[in-house]
Amino acid sequence: MAIRPIPQIGDPVLRIPTTDVAEFEEPEFQVLVDDMIDTMRDAQGAGIAANQVGVSMNVCIIGVEHNERYPYKPPIPLTVLVNPVIEVLDDETWLNNEGCLSVPIRGDLCRWMNIAVTAQDRHGEPFQQVYRGLSAGTVQHEVDHLAGGLIVDRMEDPTSMTTWANFQQHGLTDYLARIAPIIPRTEP
Ligand code: ZN
Repeated sequence: MAIRPIPQIGDPVLRIPTTDVAEFEEPEFQVLVDDMIDTMRDAQGAGIAANQVGVSMNVCIIGVEHNERYPYKPPIPLTVLVNPVIEVLDDETWLNNEGCLSVPIRGDLCRWMNIAVTAQDRHGEPFQQVYRGLSAGTVQHEVDHLAGGLIVDRMEDPTSMTTWANFQQHGLTDYLARIAPIIPRTEP
């Protein structure tokens, strides 16, 4: 168990599409998963992708308990998504405001409301899970990372970009009003 350094925007590892995981019981892979969990929790993230600890493999973690960084986020059970594939369930979208452990700003971007994810767990067992609302946004954010994407790629209105401190001071109240109808629809 260890906390690993998180590469920041501009580090090439964040821009390289990750490679599918094939060997689940390699000790290095299991240690990677444990270290990603530790690193995500230490940084108060809602999710983390393997390339955010510098490893270009197709695995991410999501999980929200009580989170000081994102106090408004409904809980998500700690889940390891290996080789995840998103299926968009309908055409409904919503405007989120996202931050990232690898990007020092936040901003507005569009996310699908209802998705199903097909993935494997950390031991290679396949499963499918439906995510909606804020949880669906978190999954889309992490799966973007695994393809080499970052939130800045999706910001259609660059004037929405703020520092975290300025979001707290100037943007949080409006954002909470905007997502109030989304929170009750969020699952799991
Ligand atoms: Zn991120």
